[in-house]
Amino acid sequence: MISQERLEEIARHWAVAETLRRGYECEPRLTEFPGGWVVWSPRPAGGPVPEPGSGETVIIDRETGALTVVPGLPPQVAMSRYAGPGATARAGYPAGPLPTPPPGTLTSPVSTMPPPMPPLPPTTSAVDPLSLTPGPPPPNATVTSSPFGPPRLPADELDRRAVALAAQLARLSPGATAPALPQVVATLEVVGRTFQALGHTADTEPVHHPAVMRALAAIPPGSRTRGAHRHPDLIVVSKALFELGGAEHTDPAWAARQLAGATLRLHLLREGAAPDSPAPAAACHTCGTVLVSLGLPGELPRDLVRPEPPQRGPAGRAALRAITAEAVAATIAVPGVRHRLPTLPFLVDLLEPYAPFHPVLQSQSGAAQRVESFTLDVWTREQTADTLGDLAERLGAPLFPIGGEAGGLHSVLAVDERHRVFAVDHAGTWYLGPTLDDAVQTLLIGRSTPRVRTNGTW
Ligand SMILES: [Zn+2]
Repeated sequence: MISQERLEEIARHWAVAETLRRGYECEPRLTEFPGGWVVWSPRPAGGPVPEPGSGETVIIDRETGALTVVPGLPPQVAMSRYAGPGATARAGYPAGPLPTPPPGTLTSPVSTMPPPMPPLPPTTSAVDPLSLTPGPPPPNATVTSSPFGPPRLPADELDRRAVALAAQLARLSPGATAPALPQVVATLEVVGRTFQALGHTADTEPVHHPAVMRALAAIPPGSRTRGAHRHPDLIVVSKALFELGGAEHTDPAWAARQLAGATLRLHLLREGAAPDSPAPAAACHTCGTVLVSLGLPGELPRDLVRPEPPQRGPAGRAALRAITAEAVAATIAVPGVRHRLPTLPFLVDLLEPYAPFHPVLQSQSGAAQRVESFTLDVWTREQTADTLGDLAERLGAPLFPIGGEAGGLHSVLAVDERHRVFAVDHAGTWYLGPTLDDAVQTLLIGRSTPRVRTNGTW
């Protein structure tokens, strides 16, 4: 039977995760029933009313401690139908008497429905969901990864994915050193031919077709996205135009005739991701502008003027510190194939002011380069131990992930042991500033960001 200590640990982790998901402080409550316990939290007075059928209820099995996530049912209904771990995978639950509702809840199912939350990771992993320290899973754990850290994969699956990703990178970089992750692969289909390219991370500058150069030069420097001329969508178009007509054609109208009817797809290659089903990627603002001006189908991207930043939720400072500490520990607990993330002692102090996450939506001209959206986030959703470990060897300082940039950059933001902040994307690594505050200013006003060379200098 599950120990009291383990029970409380599960409830505490659940509450931290729910506080982050719901945006208000969730005090964990445990209600016992014959099958085990249901974990729940009272909804704050005046809070949003959840949609009927939304949300999830978590049940802890009395014997094994296994967690079962029951979507779309309020706690008392989920309890009444609970038949043991794994039963949710089968068709429905056996009927049973309705137990006493958790104290403090109302009898109406709608009013006790938890608010909507992001989906939890799959419930079939054989990995301890809640342990924040590295180590083998306990014998009876059958559930999810930590709610904060990246999903933990079995070591053999992690190895398989790493080998497949490395092979894909090598195939796409014939005769050259394969670039580091994260990467984006661009696939261009034009007049029955297929061209592919990765982002250009070497210290040399990429060579573009004159038509691409002209389209890029038409965008003022302050409106250009960081490193756009190194992005795979422009490289693959240059490659195709060189093949289709050589360099003598510089006329945009000629390029538009060649590219009429072409299709371009972008896919992410990220550490720990399944290489056989890569996630789609977006073009950045600059590449989108160049591609449309060269005749590829699509609309010209628009600016996004920074809206008012969202207010921080009512969760208190102590709760935010607890979330940050839990999230940092959960992130460190997930190893890569070659590296582990470092335990930097200042991380909680550094990230707490931005916890649980700090999104900035923007896309407009900046001082030296375009400003794009970014998020500082204590909750790391993907593996970065090897990506940042390899970079740490070049920089001579260990790095920890603290967020990312969407909007076509698809970067990992990382801080090193000297508090310096970097952006790591498919065009290379960029130095954002000597401190996090400085880096945030750089991202907000579009100061120039030097590129880190292969030898770790900039
Ligand atoms: Zn781009």
